[in-house]
Amino acid sequence: MSQFWKPGTERPRSSLVDDEEGGVLFYSTPPPSSSYGYANLEKQRQRLPVFKYRTAILYLVEYHSTVIIVGETGSGKTTQIPQYLKEAGWAEGGRLIACTQPRRLAVQSVASRVAEEMGVKIGEEVGYTIRFEDKTVQGVTKIKFLTDGVLLREMMDDPLLTKYSVIMVDEAHERSISTDMLLGLLKKIQRRRPELRLIISSATIEAESMSNFFRTRKKNGHATDDNGLKMEPSILSVEGKGYPVEIHYVQEPVSDYLQSAVDTVLLIHEKEAVGDVLVFLTGQEEIDAAVQILVEKASDKTSHFSGLLVLPLYSGLSRSDQDLIFSQTPKGKRKVVISTNIAETSLTLEGVVFVVDSGFSKQRFYNPISDIENLVVAPISKASAKQRAGRAGRVRSGKCFRLYTEDYFVKEMPAEGIPEMQRSNLVSSVIQLKALGIDNILGFDWLASPPPESMIRALEVLYSLGILDEDAKLTTPSGFQVAEIPLDPMVSKMIIAADTLGCSEEILTIAAVLSVQSIWVSVRGKHKGLDEVKLRFAAAEGDHVTHLNVYKGFLQSGKSSQWCYKNYINYHAMKKVVDTREQLCRLVRRLGIVLKSCQGDTQTIRKAILAGFFSHASQLEEYSQNGMYKTVRNSQEVYIHPSSVLFRVNPKWVVYHSLVSTDKHYMHNVIAIDPSWLIEAAPHFYQLKRPNPAIF
Ligand code: ADP
Ligand code: MG
Repeated sequence: MSQFWKPGTERPRSSLVDDEEGGVLFYSTPPPSSSYGYANLEKQRQRLPVFKYRTAILYLVEYHSTVIIVGETGSGKTTQIPQYLKEAGWAEGGRLIACTQPRRLAVQSVASRVAEEMGVKIGEEVGYTIRFEDKTVQGVTKIKFLTDGVLLREMMDDPLLTKYSVIMVDEAHERSISTDMLLGLLKKIQRRRPELRLIISSATIEAESMSNFFRTRKKNGHATDDNGLKMEPSILSVEGKGYPVEIHYVQEPVSDYLQSAVDTVLLIHEKEAVGDVLVFLTGQEEIDAAVQILVEKASDKTSHFSGLLVLPLYSGLSRSDQDLIFSQTPKGKRKVVISTNIAETSLTLEGVVFVVDSGFSKQRFYNPISDIENLVVAPISKASAKQRAGRAGRVRSGKCFRLYTEDYFVKEMPAEGIPEMQRSNLVSSVIQLKALGIDNILGFDWLASPPPESMIRALEVLYSLGILDEDAKLTTPSGFQVAEIPLDPMVSKMIIAADTLGCSEEILTIAAVLSVQSIWVSVRGKHKGLDEVKLRFAAAEGDHVTHLNVYKGFLQSGKSSQWCYKNYINYHAMKKVVDTREQLCRLVRRLGIVLKSCQGDTQTIRKAILAGFFSHASQLEEYSQNGMYKTVRNSQEVYIHPSSVLFRVNPKWVVYHSLVSTDKHYMHNVIAIDPSWLIEAAPHFYQLKRPNPAIF
């Protein structure tokens, strides 16, 4: 049960709380000031706060090489600025305007919104590119939305990004790893291509440090270049606040924020005026669970909860599900969107008046010593909390219910988050920088330096994979080939080995499956049906070969959704697998890899996997009763995850795809191997272990 109070008012006495309803207590607010009338898209555009700054923005972009724009989420930065630039002629003469986003879902969503506003078909004048999906037409597309990761990849073919006239790096406050790399590289490009304009947009005021980073003066000390372009970055702050948002805190810390979130939604529905609700939880499983509880409540047609329209929002959602979220709430209904922090800034949801903030998000944390990277549920920062609250004041004055105490917010919540660069595995970043010719990675001009341990670890991994040579340069051809494939370098290495071993057909399928979250329908806890179905596809060799069986079955069914439904297989994930596989086939053919099948020779397939993942080998502890393994690399205690087909089978030697830590370190996607293959696959790596006869 949660009780809220509003700071500045007297703390509610407990007698005010309606315990029986398990309720949440809050104070009355003035009635909604205005309703939201119909306006055509053009009028809507002109009503956005950023519209007043149209001339100023265009002026600054004309005369400054870098412009930093700070404005609240929903003020129109992402959807409007690229259009202003196009209207002002920045896309003429075959040039392109780019706008990057840290998230794929945001790329698709803003691109379709802009296409709609411009009255054009998506993929033509307004297009987008995300990994494995390119919806642009050369010579036709003028505004292109893309992930920052994709723009980094484009630099490999076109290091100076010559086709772009303006690049807008959006959501820079999120400090994603790719955004940080991009900013460092764009700064370099600008020195060679002073005519390139950069716009860095952000929802929070980190503008000053960003501006310092881009402050470059010519050697002669002039602040302008030969064409009178100012090198000094300019900062523009888009004013225009949303409506006021009342903040409410729980009085006592809550023990189960999921349950509190659900209770709070029900209470809002009961006690508050019309308006949609946006709930911030952390991940898909949790969100699905909350949705399920609320949908059950709503399915009781006799109760007033039947007015709830409950929808989940996380990346990896299908297009049709996304559309539901952005569509207008039907009359008499209250939409409840339960989201990850994707709705914090990247996406704007119309109609939200109430926000429920759990105070947590899933964040990546990497330990370079154990080499384990985990998604952990961790407290958000004050900056995030402010963003989340701001989502409630778009339509009219709103309320934000924080499921943490004010004391906690004031005294304990960190002011800013840690940039992703400083808490991630850097293997992919290092190889990308190497491929772009940045040799001195430690000396690279970072916005915030990554930890040296992570850097060194990444160099070690790449060296052991034969991707870097002794001078830390990319090897030819495999280093360069690996860099070209937009996947984890270990997966890319596996694909390249498959070429030599003659099993690229199978390995590309495996790589495609590993690139989706899960091909199984997600069920909570143990599920008999799913376990039985898995047995039908299970291969004694392990999960990767099982994936091949599922893929084969899917193709044989004629890619039937019915077949997927019967077999607890996620149809959308399988369609994604087929798409991704096609893209990968095209890509590797360009690298000169010939598609070939080993006709089900699973030993060959496993050897190819090992070529990339030899460092992920572990051995079952001899007298272990509970299936404990030790990793070969650093004797870490690990276990086979219950979702694996090898769970309880416990072969003596295995290789895993990834480690995930919850109560224990679990190996995900596991195959059984013969230890002699390890030396064959990586003599340089396992040689180190030879003096230790305990292992071989
Ligand atoms: P910012 O980038 O400053 O956060 P956006 O340009 O994304 O703002 O959005 C500006 C406004 O455009 C939103 O407040 C909303 O009114 C409208 N909008 C954006 N995307 C959509 C969408 N998919 N559907 C409906 N309205 C949208
Ligand atoms: Mg935006």
